[in-house]
Amino acid sequence: MHNLNVSEIHLCQRCSRLLAYHLSGEKQVWRIGLKRSESLPGKFFHDKIVQPLHKKLASTRTRLFKAVNTICQASDHNFKIRFLEILESNFFLNFMQKHSQSLDTSDLLSIGKAFEQWCAFLSEFLLPIIQNMGDQFSLSEIFYLPEQLISQTYNPESGKSLKISGKYDAILFDTFHKEIVILECKGRDRDRSDEDITQVGLYAWLIEQKTGILPRGEILYLTGADQRYTISPTKMRDIVNQLPHMFDHTIQILDAHTNQKPIHLPRSADAQLCTECPFASHCDTEYGDVSEKTKNTDNASNNTDDKSRNTDDASPNTDDESKGIDTIINLFNMLKTPVFDAGSICGPRFIRYKIKPDHSKSVTVAKITKRAQDLQIAMNLAQPPLMQSQAGYISIDIPRKVRQPLTLGEVMRVAEDTRPNSKVAFPIGMAIDGKIVWINLNDPATPSILVGGTSGSGKSVLLRSILIAMAINAKPEELQLTLIDPKHVSFLDLSDIPHVDDDIIVDNAIAIDKLGQLVDEMESRYAAFKADQVFDINGYQEKGHQIAHHVVIIDEYADLIIDKQTKTDLETAIQRLGQKGRAAGIHLILATQRPDARVVTPLVKANLQLKVALKVTTVSNSNIIIDQPGAECLIGKGDMLIAGSMPVKRLQGPIPSKTDIDKLK
Ligand code: SF4
Repeated sequence: MHNLNVSEIHLCQRCSRLLAYHLSGEKQVWRIGLKRSESLPGKFFHDKIVQPLHKKLASTRTRLFKAVNTICQASDHNFKIRFLEILESNFFLNFMQKHSQSLDTSDLLSIGKAFEQWCAFLSEFLLPIIQNMGDQFSLSEIFYLPEQLISQTYNPESGKSLKISGKYDAILFDTFHKEIVILECKGRDRDRSDEDITQVGLYAWLIEQKTGILPRGEILYLTGADQRYTISPTKMRDIVNQLPHMFDHTIQILDAHTNQKPIHLPRSADAQLCTECPFASHCDTEYGDVSEKTKNTDNASNNTDDKSRNTDDASPNTDDESKGIDTIINLFNMLKTPVFDAGSICGPRFIRYKIKPDHSKSVTVAKITKRAQDLQIAMNLAQPPLMQSQAGYISIDIPRKVRQPLTLGEVMRVAEDTRPNSKVAFPIGMAIDGKIVWINLNDPATPSILVGGTSGSGKSVLLRSILIAMAINAKPEELQLTLIDPKHVSFLDLSDIPHVDDDIIVDNAIAIDKLGQLVDEMESRYAAFKADQVFDINGYQEKGHQIAHHVVIIDEYADLIIDKQTKTDLETAIQRLGQKGRAAGIHLILATQRPDARVVTPLVKANLQLKVALKVTTVSNSNIIIDQPGAECLIGKGDMLIAGSMPVKRLQGPIPSKTDIDKLK
């Protein structure tokens, strides 16, 4: 278990790199950005005035308590003035006698002023209670004095737990509103109110964990004009709900520190802080872009085909993750939709930035996702980035300037351990987090596939990759392929692999005829299964029968539709194969570069379970394939969204190399 106190978490909020420096023993971190705005000695005021005064008011035996209690019960019209007089005569004069010799004049003046403000706040706090409750309250209940040092443990579902401790300034109980109030005094003005709010939120979290009650917050700024800031319980709930993200982030930093591993940490969002930071000259070297360096090193040793590395249309210099997140956070702050940094993942083609809306400022997902064009301009992108709500965050995918090659052979090699035990399984692509996603046509959720994407989207490469991956892992007697290619060019070099059952079909009539034959084949397989009392091809094979899976791949389905009759015939065959093909071991992969409603009819769509959207030109094209927008934001060349029988995922498809094809011949 890790241990941190509230100040350390607070430091992490200012700049997570400063927390990392603190963990390595750097003491200077506490001095950065903490210049007093005025001459009030904050800690001294807290220790010598706030704490003793609060204690005296909480104890029924003190002279001060008795005097204040008397004016409270008397409903004095001059309550505020009387309250100040009592506190001055019963407390402040004693304080002055004790400390006036040791303090200089400016300190004494600022302490006197702060004391008045402190008293004014307390009387304002008491007045509504007195006015509304008459004598039905007890002063000792208001100046509640529980333990000041409090600690609780944050236990995330995964990973190490974090023990958090903190010492709050004071707690009051608002007996009229029946609210616990956590009070924080600041010996400065409201120049860093976001940090102060989070600090009070941390104390509120600790108190809620311990008592089950979420307090209200009051921050009192003892210098400057804008002195009191109230955080209602509703607002506090929003703040507290955001804290687990911060705790997770600090756990990552603590884990990296404990294991002495490099970690990438974003720069502080406060550019002013960096101007006075002694680590400014080297913090980028130590905590910037580690994942990038690591991945480059890892991949350099594994990848064989460096030709696919390119920098063509990824125009911006977006590979610096820390700069990227700074740009994103700053933009949303400027647009008055503040967000939190929730981490990033560096994939082969994209950096996925994760952000969380600041719900305490009423920022919603919709307000953020409609800013894609603003991000396009801010990050100098060729097109608006894809932004999607995910579990616990919003993802923003930014193309990398330098892309990592992704060859089919390499993908199959690294993902061999996770390959499904099936003759019709293939790796469809790599997710942004680097995980390879396999599709198994023998799985009832994904027996047939619809692929849509414009010219240049990587559609034909994807089809080739699918068929080559399956053929590498299956003998011709286990897998038969029918290739239909009205364009004549997609599978030219694959015509002589032994798995292809016939010549590549380029003619509409032959294609329709072939689909009809496969429907008949499917029916005869069902008859054979019935005779052998098995349900499907798996059961039939288990009984010792040699029977191959049969996969039909159609590249450019739209070109097969020449009239209404062929369309009807094709749709009838697709419907029958889509509905009953899986059990018989017959599967359909249908691709089109015209994913419009005329080509991809509801009948076609309903019978092809897995949907793959490559880059398309319009939102409506994306809606037709995956029932949601997004594919219009893809960048082409194998960048895809898969959906349908599984949650939407963004993947990068691999490229089959000549070496992969040669393995089949
Ligand atoms: S220079 Fe800025 S980003 Fe770097 S450690 Fe200091 S405050 Fe953090």
